[in-house]
Amino acid sequence: MIPVNTPLLNGNELKYLTQCIETGWISSEGPFIKSFEEKMAAYVGRKHGIAVSNGSAALDVAIKALNLSKGDEVIMPTFTIISPAQSIVNVGAVPVLVDSDASTWNIDVTQIEAKITSKTKAILVVHIYGLPVDMQPVLELCKKYNLLLIEDAAEMHGQTYNGQQCGSFGDISIFSFYPNKHITSGEGGMIMCNDDALAERCRKLRNLAFETNGRRFIHYELGWNYRMTNMQAAIGLAQLEKLDIHIAKKRKIGKLYDEGLKDLKGFQLPLPQTDYAENIYWVYAMVAETEALANKTVQKLNEAKIGTRPFFWCMHEQPVFQKMGLFKNESYPVAEKIARNGFYLPSGLGLSEGEIELVISNLMKL
Ligand SMILES: *Cc1c(COP(=O)(O)O)cnc(C)c1O
Repeated sequence: MIPVNTPLLNGNELKYLTQCIETGWISSEGPFIKSFEEKMAAYVGRKHGIAVSNGSAALDVAIKALNLSKGDEVIMPTFTIISPAQSIVNVGAVPVLVDSDASTWNIDVTQIEAKITSKTKAILVVHIYGLPVDMQPVLELCKKYNLLLIEDAAEMHGQTYNGQQCGSFGDISIFSFYPNKHITSGEGGMIMCNDDALAERCRKLRNLAFETNGRRFIHYELGWNYRMTNMQAAIGLAQLEKLDIHIAKKRKIGKLYDEGLKDLKGFQLPLPQTDYAENIYWVYAMVAETEALANKTVQKLNEAKIGTRPFFWCMHEQPVFQKMGLFKNESYPVAEKIARNGFYLPSGLGLSEGEIELVISNLMKL
C-alpha cells in the first residue's frame, strides 16, 4: 500500500526525544517548548509563539482570546476542515460562509465584502492545500471595516504571500503540527501574534486559565488544558530545523506529479503558482470534471493499493451544523463541486520517486 502520508523523522528527533527521557522533562515544563516557540516565531517573523496540544486547540484559544462571543459574526470559507467553524460555534459566535475560488480552492476574496454586516467582528482565512489566500484584498477589508483577522496557517508552514511568511498576517494566526503537515510534533499546534497582552491571554487559556499572579487554584474564567509536552516540542524543534528541506521536497513531489500528469484528461490539477506565491503542495490535490469520474478513479487507485483522501466537506453541508439550524438553504456552488469531485494523492514527505512514478503510471493507465 502507498499511504497518503508518511512523515519524515530523520533529523534530531530521536536525539532530542532521548534528552527528554534522560532528563525526566516529559510534561509541559521543559526547555524544548520555549525553544520551539521562540524558533518558530522567529522563522515566521512574529513576536510570540504559544505552543498547544494541536491545531484545533490553537483555534479554540485564538477565538476565545479575541473575546469573540455570542452573536458576533466571523466570515470564513465554507470549504475547510471543521476546526475553525467549530471554535467559532463553541463560543456562541456565528460563522458566515463564503464560496471558494475555482482555481486555488481558497476563499473567494471578491465575495467577502457583501457578507459584512454590523455584527461582523472578524475575517478568518484558511490557506488551503498549498497556495495562500490572496491576502491584500482581505487586509484592505479588515482595515476599512475595522475587523480582526484570524489566519489558519495549519497547512502553510514556510509558505509566503508576496514574500511575507504565512502565519504573520493575522491579528492572531495558528499552525498545526499533525503528522501530515510540513513539520510535525506528533500532535501539536501553535498560536502566533505580536501583541503582548493577547499572547499572555493565550498562555493563560491553554493552562486551565490559571492566574499568573493570584493564588493557585482560584479561577476567574474557564480555559482548557491544551498544553504541549516537552516530548512533542522536542520532535517539533528537530522538524523545524528541516523545514526548508521539507518544503523543497514537497515542491519536488508536486513537480513530478505535474509533469507526469500533464496529459491527463478530465482533471483539474493544482496551480503551480499564482501572482503572489509558488505552490508548496501541502497535498497533491486534483478535481475531476464529474463526481462519477472522481469516484471511479479513487476506487481504481485503491484497488491498486494507492491511498487517496477526499477533499474537505463544506461547512454548510455538515449534518452537525444543519441540526443546529445553521446555514439553512445556503448554497456555494464552487465549494460544493470541489468537495464532491476532489481528492488528493499520496504526497507525504516519506514518499519515494519510485512510488510517485507508480501513482502516475496507474493514473495514466486509467
Ligand atoms: C490540520 C488542520 C487543522 C487542525 O489541526 P489539528 O492539529 O489536526 O487539530 C486546522 N486547520 C486546517 C486548515 C488544517 O489543515
